[in-house]
Amino acid sequence: RKIVIAIDGYSACGKSSTAKEVAAILGYRYIDSGAMYRAVTYYFQEHHISLTNPKEITKALEQIHISFKVNQKNGTDTFLNGLSVEKEIRKMRVSEMVSQVSTIKDVRTAMVDQQRRMGRERGIIMDGRDIGTVVFPTAELKLFMQAEMNVRAFRRQQELLERGQLVDLDDVIENIRQRDEIDTTRAESPLRKAEDAIEVDTTYVSFDEQVDEVVRLALS
Ligand code: C5P
Repeated sequence: RKIVIAIDGYSACGKSSTAKEVAAILGYRYIDSGAMYRAVTYYFQEHHISLTNPKEITKALEQIHISFKVNQKNGTDTFLNGLSVEKEIRKMRVSEMVSQVSTIKDVRTAMVDQQRRMGRERGIIMDGRDIGTVVFPTAELKLFMQAEMNVRAFRRQQELLERGQLVDLDDVIENIRQRDEIDTTRAESPLRKAEDAIEVDTTYVSFDEQVDEVVRLALS
């Protein structure tokens, strides 16, 4: 029996890496909802879209088509209008603006619509900030992930390094703090734990243990 798994939580708590691995083990489809907000942000930056001009935003959203393709490294690449933007959307330039863009109601409506369409098939695992609360409130398994800031920042810094980006740890911490702040206080579907979500703290847990636990929950 294939289910829908929703993973929410703060920035850089290991949601995506866990979800990716669980999807590979269970033969599920993984969808990175954060990548979609990042792709929109990248488009807005490239096209100099004003965040205070609703008409411009509506027009831009009509031009944006996001898709995912599984790559050889058991990950997914994000495509914006047919072109891979995977590398661009992970850059600090996008990270620094994405939470602001994600506060815009029209942006959220457009993304949630698309996410629900992707979720029509069973056997999907999606991570983000509002998956268990807004996108799939009836998901069979909901997780809410957290971890201590130093662990999150260090892991994210390593990830960026693996992508060839050298970023100061203080800058990583500052960005995570800012995004958490905006994500939890915005008017439109703020980040919060769904009532029926299981809390998972990944601070002292190894990656493999974490993955095993989610797989066990999905199969139970
Ligand atoms: O998951 P990731 O950290 O890549 O997401 C980037 C940003 O996109 C988050 O900080 C948040 O502002 C926004 N986001 C959101 N709702 C989601 C997923 C991401 O608002 N479901």
